[in-house]
Amino acid sequence: MGEKTLKFNSKTIHGGQQPDKAYGAVMPPIYQTSTYAQTTPGGHKGYEYSRSANPTRTALENSLASIENGTYGLAFASGLAAIDAVIKLLGPGDEVVSTNDLYGGSYRLFKQIFEKYGIKFNFVGMQDTDTIEAAITGNTKLIWVETPTNPMMNIIDIKAVAAVAKKHNVLLAVDNTFATPYLQTPLDLGADIVMHSATKYLGGHSDVVAGALVVKNKELADQLYFIQNASGAVCGPMDSFLILRGIKTLHVRMQRHCENGEAVARYLENHPKIEKVYWPGFESHPNHEVAKSQMNGYGGMISFVTKGSSYEEAIKIVERLKLFTLAESLGGVESLAGHPASMTHASIPKEEREKSGVVDALIRLSVGIEDKDDLIADLEQAIG
Ligand SMILES: *Cc1c(COP(=O)(O)O)cnc(C)c1O
Repeated sequence: MGEKTLKFNSKTIHGGQQPDKAYGAVMPPIYQTSTYAQTTPGGHKGYEYSRSANPTRTALENSLASIENGTYGLAFASGLAAIDAVIKLLGPGDEVVSTNDLYGGSYRLFKQIFEKYGIKFNFVGMQDTDTIEAAITGNTKLIWVETPTNPMMNIIDIKAVAAVAKKHNVLLAVDNTFATPYLQTPLDLGADIVMHSATKYLGGHSDVVAGALVVKNKELADQLYFIQNASGAVCGPMDSFLILRGIKTLHVRMQRHCENGEAVARYLENHPKIEKVYWPGFESHPNHEVAKSQMNGYGGMISFVTKGSSYEEAIKIVERLKLFTLAESLGGVESLAGHPASMTHASIPKEEREKSGVVDALIRLSVGIEDKDDLIADLEQAIG
């Protein structure tokens, strides 16, 4: 059966994969090697040096391309290394229009590294395409979207932003870390580049840091491959193996993340001590219709604010949680809780942070795949 005809749940397991040519190993071996024997200068089997290419990484890159409905996958040492490669497509004087409510590390990379090299970043709310158009100038080369946004769970209409990008002839990149291709495939909606922190749901077990890019266009793939090889932040063979193994169960994990996420969101929504719950599955969510049309579910990421919204109360709740581990990161099988203002988003100035709703009392949950009754009981004892 042709690769293209496979459904998503089969692609996670078989997409871009063939049994190993040497011994038929079903799982691609971990080629823990830096170099490859040549019979004569240039006489090799497609691999010369592992920064340029490594067979375990190739297996992962093929899988990534397959699950995101792309053509070319590139695996990096971290999500930020993948973003770094995308911004290196640009030069001094170029401008980027980016989501204002985005991963703190992406903001730090844009502002504190790339602005030094003369690239300008414009952070705007992206629920309304007019705001995006107003921020585009003759120098804009890239639109950077994260949806659902982190940690406010706003949903950005990828198809609508893609239309704006096409009209102005700029590239559209989507950070698909939160949704994963189980929930949405941005390339199908008109994006040029999909990016992942594979550290999160793709790896899924909180045991590896890695990143990914997927594109359809050959020229763009060649440029990104050139940067990946020239800058060198590649995904190592062991890490590639772990992400590949994670991807094989992505669909079953995501199904459970969605179920548990919904149960926890509805529990919090009905809790008398909770002021506001941010989860795109609520009909009252301002972008619910967009979420419904572009996503196959609502995921396991939820943010909430308690009544009275004090910093101290938020800290007490996250400290009292037992089954939810207080930790950075997300997307693993175990449930995590975080306090964005002091953790993931601490590198964004308070003023900037609060403009997009990241108040001191905000708590973010990455709902794992434990039994949902146990998760709710833990929240019950922590919130009181
Ligand atoms: C974690 C994360 C990143 C950064 O990825 P790393 O693997 O930590 O470098 C980027 N975007 C989002 C949405 C993330 O959650």
